[in-house]
Amino acid sequence: MEQIELQRDILDHNNRIGYENSDLFARKGVFVLNLMSSPGAGKTTLLERTIELLKDKYTIGVIEGDIATSFDAERIGAHGVTVTQINTGGACHLDSGMIRKVLADFDLDRTDLLIIENVGNLVCPAEFFLGEDAKAVVLSVTEGEDKPLKYPLIFRLATALVINKVDLLPYIDCSLSRIIRDATGINPSLVVFETSCTARQGLDTWKAWLEGEMHKKKKAGRNP
Ligand code: MG
Repeated sequence: MEQIELQRDILDHNNRIGYENSDLFARKGVFVLNLMSSPGAGKTTLLERTIELLKDKYTIGVIEGDIATSFDAERIGAHGVTVTQINTGGACHLDSGMIRKVLADFDLDRTDLLIIENVGNLVCPAEFFLGEDAKAVVLSVTEGEDKPLKYPLIFRLATALVINKVDLLPYIDCSLSRIIRDATGINPSLVVFETSCTARQGLDTWKAWLEGEMHKKKKAGRNP
């Protein structure tokens, strides 16, 4: 019982700071994406492709969440965008307080898009609201078609599902249609993309969706 109450307190506290972050992002007109997946699904490569496609037109900031190392921040920094690494030191997810602490690293007045790459994990990050406008879950076809039914919460809360590494489908036993059927069964409004970030496939619709969401956010900021 005490354990449950403690968890509820932690989540309430996290949500409170998450909404404060969200208010700040709304005032600044920044669209914020919380990118989640298990380790190795391709979050960082998707981020690199996204930056390549959008950086000439928009100012992008990135927050990298990892238990340890700054490998991903170094990869992202090479693309010339502002990036901050958070090391959770063991925690399996980012929380809203960690995000608030690093926001001073960004010029939010000039930022159009802030992408938060969460710690690689399909379970814990889903429970922690960071102040984002949308959660996107990346699932690579190499992880297996059963993941939406095994880890339903993250698919229920996500706005977008990026099914990655589809160029590998001919070589593995994985049903793309089952992933889509199960994921949209859990969350009928899920927007689904099929990509290969290494082969640069399917990224145009992803880019168009992000641009649409950024424009909606800017418009909402002008007409509160
Ligand atoms: Mg990564």
